[in-house]
Amino acid sequence: MSGARVGDAAMSEASAPPTREALIDAAAITANVRHLREVAGTAEFIAVVKADGYGHGAPVAARAAIAGGATRIGTADLDEALALARAGIDEVPLLAWLHTPGRCFEEAAAAGVEIGIGSWEQLEAAGAAGRDGRPVGVHLKLETGLGRGGAAPADWPALFARASALEDAGRVRVVGVFSHLSGTSREDDLAQVGAFERGIEMARRARLDPPLRHLAATAAAVSLPEARFTAVRVGLGIYGLSPFAGVSSVDLGLRPAMTLRAPVAAVRRVEAGQGVSYGYDHRTTGATTLALVPLGYADGIPRHASGRAPVLLGGHRYTIAGRVAMDQFVIDVGDRPVRAGDLVTVFGDPVSGAPSAEEWADAADTINYEIVTRIGARVARRAL
Ligand SMILES: *Cc1c(COP(=O)(O)O)cnc(C)c1O
Repeated sequence: MSGARVGDAAMSEASAPPTREALIDAAAITANVRHLREVAGTAEFIAVVKADGYGHGAPVAARAAIAGGATRIGTADLDEALALARAGIDEVPLLAWLHTPGRCFEEAAAAGVEIGIGSWEQLEAAGAAGRDGRPVGVHLKLETGLGRGGAAPADWPALFARASALEDAGRVRVVGVFSHLSGTSREDDLAQVGAFERGIEMARRARLDPPLRHLAATAAAVSLPEARFTAVRVGLGIYGLSPFAGVSSVDLGLRPAMTLRAPVAAVRRVEAGQGVSYGYDHRTTGATTLALVPLGYADGIPRHASGRAPVLLGGHRYTIAGRVAMDQFVIDVGDRPVRAGDLVTVFGDPVSGAPSAEEWADAADTINYEIVTRIGARVARRAL
């Protein structure tokens, strides 16, 4: 091989698009937060960036959300919040609410991260981490009917009394009280609203007056005014996705922020009767061109969407042909002049013609939350 050809190869490698890429439209996240803040109308807006920002990249999502007016950033795990603190996100308080037994809150206290407290043990751990003059900010988590985490109503009086005593001792500062809805029906959600209001009243009687009272996630922030209180805790919506079946992003005034795409890795001209991918679930019906897309279930492409989900290539839509493999799937493009290197859009903003995350969710019998959040570590995130 001549030196010139080696040089050419190196050059084309440098300029080639990544094998797999998720484009993240940070401006869309900012605009979505701005819009949702207006819709909810609450004093505070907690942007949820758990699970690496629903797959979008937590630091990018957090910064974009703060630019759009988020007044707090929420994560599930404390380690997610601490990573954001280390990444320099310090314009607004961080809050983490899911802890396993024995978790200490010293690091959180030092970093100023607020803690969701769902049990007596967690409250004691927060109190132990607080120092006079540097109390740990806590949000008391009430179980109002979802059947997951949080303190049960029978335990509220003792929890509030202890929180009040720890506040007097300068060890904790009760900045919030919160709960989470099931979204089962309006009636079920309103029952939880009622339970939450009783919890707030009980907290007041224990001399607690937490400024942040938050119950609504995206769905209720958009559609259940009774659940808005003084803050909403919004995840899915900030990424431009709709939590409602049959209601699109556009209907909600939102722009999807993630576009998943990859270049065609190879094309192959085949005859009729060619079996495609494991198990030959797809066989060609005539002479056709098969295009190989380098995205598989390792990258978060649901195997369950084999033979069902759409992609966009050269302005045309195709359905995945045969089974999704670990690293790749195939599309049958007929006689269209597809070439290796042409970009395949898996999902993105449907306004641009791309399939939506909802279409993928339908094809995989799941929800759009899972489609974006499951995108794997091999996929390069590129913030626009
Ligand atoms: C994930 C989560 C949210 C955000 O829910 P969305 O439906 O994505 O808005 C809010 N609160 C809690 C407790 C959560 O776990």
